[in-house]
Amino acid sequence: MALQICPNCQQQDFTWSFDEENIPPTSWHCSNCGYTACEDESFERLCATCNIKSESRLADDKKIYWWCSTCNTITIISKIPNYRYPTRAAIDFLAAEFNYRNEPHMQDWEYEVASAEDLDKYFAVYSRVNDDDIRFTLMMMIIEVLGTNDETNKDWLRAKQLLIENFSLHEYTVFYWCIFDNEHIEDCFYITPLMRKLWQEQAEKHP
Ligand SMILES: [Zn+2]
Ligand SMILES: [Zn+2]
Repeated sequence: MALQICPNCQQQDFTWSFDEENIPPTSWHCSNCGYTACEDESFERLCATCNIKSESRLADDKKIYWWCSTCNTITIISKIPNYRYPTRAAIDFLAAEFNYRNEPHMQDWEYEVASAEDLDKYFAVYSRVNDDDIRFTLMMMIIEVLGTNDETNKDWLRAKQLLIENFSLHEYTVFYWCIFDNEHIEDCFYITPLMRKLWQEQAEKHP
């Protein structure tokens, strides 16, 4: 199997392996520097630099990027922010606040209970509380019920302002709604185009 140039150390020690137990099954490894990345093989495209269809989509724990195995050009698609999740304390607080069901088996509580009718209340509590875990979870609920792709929608503008004010807190949430593993925007969430635009603007300011 031909060895490729490693995108991390530039030595010709980069090769792939296939394990159907993994998602995605194809991974790349450099025997010189130990760098690993996984490849989503549903993507392949023509390289704009060398004009050969040899660009693959790789991801490591920090970024998703296009990599051309012919000319070794790298094009960053997105960095991957640190994962964050709703805490039990934040869920308990919000369930009591809005009088929502709160049972231990509920997998994605924030999405299951969120209701568009309560959106104004979410904004009100968001501005009242001074706790990042609560704000983080509330923002997930706000975005869940926004249901718009209109840049001038007043609720979106309100949410966008809060996202920008505390981008590092909401970074993972914005990233999630961007659905960067799907090139077909029509298959994504309603709000995905707005989120991708916001991500592009903000990710540059928060490297
Ligand atoms: Zn390497
Ligand atoms: Zn190329």
